[in-house]
Amino acid sequence: MNTKLKIIQGDITQLTVDAIVNAANTSLLGGGGVDGAIHRAGGPAILEDCQKIRARQGGCETGEAVITTAGKLPSNYVIHTVGPVWQNTDPNEMDRLLSSCYTNSLAIAKSKNLKTIAFPNISTGIYDFPKDRAAKVAIAAVRQFLKTTSTLEEVIFVCFDKENYDLYVNHLNEDL
Ligand code: ADP
Repeated sequence: MNTKLKIIQGDITQLTVDAIVNAANTSLLGGGGVDGAIHRAGGPAILEDCQKIRARQGGCETGEAVITTAGKLPSNYVIHTVGPVWQNTDPNEMDRLLSSCYTNSLAIAKSKNLKTIAFPNISTGIYDFPKDRAAKVAIAAVRQFLKTTSTLEEVIFVCFDKENYDLYVNHLNEDL
């Protein structure tokens, strides 16, 4: 089956999908940007699950992902992944870590048999990853992963700003 890739501009907390992905930090205790928006809209149940994960494994490393309830959100789960904080010194390592965020999030979705998942533009806010570069990495990672799975029906890239939206639209067409 061909998984649909979709790009929308909007607020990820409002989507009704099996899982939305959170651009979290290693503490899993919430923060600014999309992380803050998800915890605010989803309520305390998300943080409670994050605390349990912290008790078990002490947080989440960069490039890794964990899953929690979505609390009051319309989606069923939140998959929290930690993007790299951009540093010029090793761009290939930055790409590898960002790519892992997408791959590990999709692997969790696959293991739970989820059909629909929505990603924000991980690391392109407070973590300052160059947007164009991040869009290419994200699309390539998702496409690569989808070669190995047939359970996912739709992957949505949720762009908050018009700049990211335009980049995704261009790259998705380009890379066909
Ligand atoms: P990071 O620390 O990984 O950079 P941010 O939350 O600062 O995480 O930003 C990641 C991306 O999420 C940015 O492109 C930002 O504009 C976007 N964003 C912020 N709020 C939302 C939201 N409610 N829905 C979707 N994307 C959002």
